[in-house]
Amino acid sequence: MLIKGGIVVDAAGERQGDVRVGPDGRVVEVGEDLQPAAARTEAVHDATGKLVIPGGVDPHTHMNLPIGAVRVSDDFASGSRAAAIGGTTSFIDYVTVARGEDPMGTVEKWREWAEPSAVDWGLHLTFTEVVPDSVVAAGVAAGITSFKLYLAYPDRLEVDDGTALRLMQTARREGALVTLHCENGLAIEELRRQAVEAGRLAVAEHATTRPPVLEAEAVQRAGALAEVAGTAIYVVHVSSADALEAVLSARGRGVDITAETCPQYLYLDVSMLSGPDGADFCCTPPLREPHHAVRLWEGLASGEIQTVATDHCPFWRADRRAGVAGRAGGFADFTEVPGGLPGIETRLALLYEGVTSGRITRSDWVRLSCEGPAKAFGLWPEKGWLGVGADADVVVWDPGRQQRLDADALDMATDHSPYAGRVVTGWPELVLSRGRVVARDGRFVGEPGWGRYLARRPLARMP
Ligand code: MN
Repeated sequence: MLIKGGIVVDAAGERQGDVRVGPDGRVVEVGEDLQPAAARTEAVHDATGKLVIPGGVDPHTHMNLPIGAVRVSDDFASGSRAAAIGGTTSFIDYVTVARGEDPMGTVEKWREWAEPSAVDWGLHLTFTEVVPDSVVAAGVAAGITSFKLYLAYPDRLEVDDGTALRLMQTARREGALVTLHCENGLAIEELRRQAVEAGRLAVAEHATTRPPVLEAEAVQRAGALAEVAGTAIYVVHVSSADALEAVLSARGRGVDITAETCPQYLYLDVSMLSGPDGADFCCTPPLREPHHAVRLWEGLASGEIQTVATDHCPFWRADRRAGVAGRAGGFADFTEVPGGLPGIETRLALLYEGVTSGRITRSDWVRLSCEGPAKAFGLWPEKGWLGVGADADVVVWDPGRQQRLDADALDMATDHSPYAGRVVTGWPELVLSRGRVVARDGRFVGEPGWGRYLARRPLARMP
């Protein structure tokens, strides 16, 4: 296929350019005024007036994840389909290994779940206790070159500081990147207990019991541990100005620290938890006061934040209402509301609104949603780049196409949308995954199982 007449945008800039996709599913030529090959039949897509960008890379999703009595509503088939429609052609899902579980056995379960994916997918491993170096080495050998630690959720997921330090040292030796959920779990647990004891049960208490300062404290602590261990770290879903300042402080001390944020922290705010549908806006960290988003946008434009992911984690409304305790009468209090929002389909379009409103440039948009995640997680330059030899994951972006973000206008497996009522301008008209058209004019035309497992490159191993 030859994509002609568009404006090719990448992190370095933009230029008029045609993109030729080879039969092997790679980019074979990028240049001005390429002519259709006479000798063979070549489809030509007229991209005049459109932007041509590398496929989106979403480095933070939770497909199919069981949480207490409920389960994330998108599986790999439905979630990847929605991803394709929205212009995301690679995603990396978190394998959550419960305490006592065999990590590589859990990876096998995830790989089976992921088989029907319509676009390429990779995996991170989440460790919830000390594991031997050999387990991390096995993960890295299998292309899982990043693992996650939670500093929150002491009942199921949190690791203490000693365990975090030890696993960071292992990561350094094995060439893995450590991603961290940064909130002070034990302090938050106490605030939650106090709220329930005092009869403060409403959904809004989800935010009052998880203040920004406890996010910033955990980022600061993670940075200190990484400094001691000499390990590269990546902070997932930075939600507050406080946490961003802690990232910059660690970076200033020489820590190799990458920051991610998500559209929900750019567009939604804490007031939404107080409405009648407050439970539909529960995510962790919680939505914040609006001034935090202003600071996060500055961080996106300045390069202080390197990636925008989704933390895609949708639920059916009935499951939200039932809660993780699965009560027939509905959740008893805010501590039982499953946390997580849909997002994999709308990430590129929501971030593009930042281009339209002048907060970031088109190059920033591609850097944050394609190149940055690919570079951070060992997928570049096959992914996140539109040069010769890269995978032909290509999005032809129509900057004038309008799209409603109500649940009925989207493809994610959920019946409510945090962006209901919003209309964005800018949406893919054509999406290619390794040269194959997977979405056209907002409709999925790919096939389940087309997606391949992405074995990712490790970092340099350090003694
Ligand atoms: Mn997450």
